[in-house]
Amino acid sequence: MFGRHPDTRALSELSKVQLLDTTLRDGEQAPGVSMSADEKAHIARGLDDAGIDVIEAGSAPTGQQERETIARVADLDLDATVTSFTRGVKRDIDQAMGCGVDGINLVVPASDRHVREKVATSWAENRQQTVELVEYATDHDLWVEVIGEDGSRADPDYLEDLLGAAIDAGADRICYADTVGHATPDRTLAYVSRLAELGPVSTHTHDDLGLAVTNVLVSLAAGADMVHGTIGGIGERAGNVALEEVAIALAHGYGIETMALEQVYELAQTVAAATGIDLPPNKAVVGENAFTHESGIHTDGTLKDDAMYEPYPPETVGRQRRLALGKHAGRSGVRAALEEHDVEVDDDELEAVFQRVKQLGERDKRVTDADLLAIAEEATGETHERRVELVELTTVAGVGTPTATVVISVDGDERDPVSATGTGPVDAAISAVEEALAGHAAAAALDSYHVDAITGGTDAVVTVEVTMSRGDRSVTVAQSDSDITRASVEAMLYAIDRLGVPDDAVPADD
Ligand SMILES: [Zn+2]
Repeated sequence: MFGRHPDTRALSELSKVQLLDTTLRDGEQAPGVSMSADEKAHIARGLDDAGIDVIEAGSAPTGQQERETIARVADLDLDATVTSFTRGVKRDIDQAMGCGVDGINLVVPASDRHVREKVATSWAENRQQTVELVEYATDHDLWVEVIGEDGSRADPDYLEDLLGAAIDAGADRICYADTVGHATPDRTLAYVSRLAELGPVSTHTHDDLGLAVTNVLVSLAAGADMVHGTIGGIGERAGNVALEEVAIALAHGYGIETMALEQVYELAQTVAAATGIDLPPNKAVVGENAFTHESGIHTDGTLKDDAMYEPYPPETVGRQRRLALGKHAGRSGVRAALEEHDVEVDDDELEAVFQRVKQLGERDKRVTDADLLAIAEEATGETHERRVELVELTTVAGVGTPTATVVISVDGDERDPVSATGTGPVDAAISAVEEALAGHAAAAALDSYHVDAITGGTDAVVTVEVTMSRGDRSVTVAQSDSDITRASVEAMLYAIDRLGVPDDAVPADD
């Protein structure tokens, strides 16, 4: 439809785009993030399963512990090429080789600011040193990608000279780096199309201007064929480009397959758990709201035709559509939600439930399944007999192993206390509940767990929201309390109760 720039190629004609994941290196450089070796190995396996081509496992010069982690990833026998970040010094390359990696991402200064101010050298010397390092690394059979750091602010003639020399010296590929997320699409086009004349080019973009994905697509049109990014877009400052966004844009927009998209949501959740950085609700592909419809018009349309308000089906990225209830709810959405919980209502009852849902929604509240079911009971007069209840909860935390003891009652029968340990009091309490229900709670999966502090001080009231599911049924419950452990246990027990307690799953005491 639109005319194409003479320096670009049609993306739909690209045969192959490779992905380099740097979640374990650039991603970990996000403020306040540190991942354990176990977590990194687990993420690396997930990336490999999803078909990521290159995994940058870390930065060998960072320290002994980091090197051990890189070595562990290199030892996993993955299909992906495993690399380490190295600076432009020989010792870094030796350290990377010591980790047993397949290759290196050799980062050399490219902009004047970096060449003269950061490393205090001259253009010519920097170029010469780069050539020698590339030769050294390729002599040792390493796959070598040379990254011109701060390339988007470099003198384009110098960048071309530097990276051209790297290719001539034997580098497998070179990388255009928008290190500080400064480039516009025009600048990206101008730089990458020049570098693509020299050899295989990767693109490394950051999202400081909110242009990370756009700049990737422009890079590919300009001749790049590998994309650096992170899962969930974590990284320094505003982050790297999110690989899942690149992958869906290429698949949906141009029919180019890069990774197993259906695995991307689980991967993003794994990374979020390891880094402690929650997935933003409005984030494309992996955000909580990406496939959630609340407004009456959208819900109604979606119930008539799944594709009405979605660009692609959620299953494409391993997710499910959710219809949420709140102040924008419509009658058909409320009816559909009730049907999901096997609640039948007549028109008058539906009207009453609908009005109450909107009222609750207007008080700035998300209406959970538990809220909806309580409202429906009020409207229909059919009350739910609570079968599983919390009788007592005690936790011991602080010095030593966190321990929790719970007493639950089933059908009014108080059971023996059950104790469990965990990484913290909440974890211990949840384990104790699972044990108290003798595997029954485990059969109900805890799909999400989310905490919000409602007030600011140490006496804050927190709201814990959990979603639990068994089979194709799921229940969301929010519970507020000044004690986070109690709120968690109450929410979980309520959800389990609502999912239904099969009789054989509740063993009687001996
Ligand atoms: Zn970066």
